[in-house]
Amino acid sequence: LEKQVRRNNRLATIGQIAAGTAHEIRNPLTSIKGFLQVIGHKLRENNQLKEHGYIEIMQREISRISNLVGEFLLLSKPRDVHLRTVNVCQVLKEILPLIKNEALLHNVTVNIERRLSSLPMVIADGELLKQVFLNLCKNAIEAMRDGGLLTIRLGLQEPENKFVVDIVDAGPGIPSHVLEQIFDPFFTTKENGTGLGLPICKQILNEFGGRIDVTSDEMGTTFHVHLPLV
Ligand code: ADP
Ligand code: MG
Repeated sequence: LEKQVRRNNRLATIGQIAAGTAHEIRNPLTSIKGFLQVIGHKLRENNQLKEHGYIEIMQREISRISNLVGEFLLLSKPRDVHLRTVNVCQVLKEILPLIKNEALLHNVTVNIERRLSSLPMVIADGELLKQVFLNLCKNAIEAMRDGGLLTIRLGLQEPENKFVVDIVDAGPGIPSHVLEQIFDPFFTTKENGTGLGLPICKQILNEFGGRIDVTSDEMGTTFHVHLPLV
């Protein structure tokens, strides 16, 4: 327990530092974005179309950094949780382009499988739920070093009255001594890992009254996300 408390304190401290840093990055980005817009207008007025194209690229890249920092901020700061009725399909639709982009870079194909006729609503915070799915899909893609299939499966778990989203990969699986630790803050087997993805997923799902568990063998790993139905 003492170890757990120390870990959680460490997590909170790092969270505070991260949130502070993220703001410091965002503010200058906003001013760069503004001035680029001014330069862009000037270039277009002067018909310097090639240069105007460069400005557009810079604006897009800045938006990307800004989104990234935003997500980081979302992950690191103490959260206000806004529980609502959420359509899981809608949430997935909004992040699918991000996932597909990441998958494409790693030679991974994304497949969505629906094992239900209608789509029930769940109780969750849509923005936080996006973070959960993004984290799990990122891990799945990272696990398939030579590419493969990532399946997102939607279904119901009748006896418990839960909506279940399975994130299924065809990676090498997780050895049992590693499996015991994957939800521990800062536990990572990756060179550039933070070890924060899964503990954050777990914490978020707890706040919804949902949960996450995992099954894994040498054929791959499946994370099961259970969400409370409305
Ligand atoms: P990070 O991705 O930064 O390492 P996470 O908390 O997201 O941190 O994951 C912790 C660890 O769990 C990973 O380093 C990896 O060892 C293991 N893991 C998570 N998802 C998978 C997966 N889909 N396949 C294999 N191992 C996984
Ligand atoms: Mg991760």
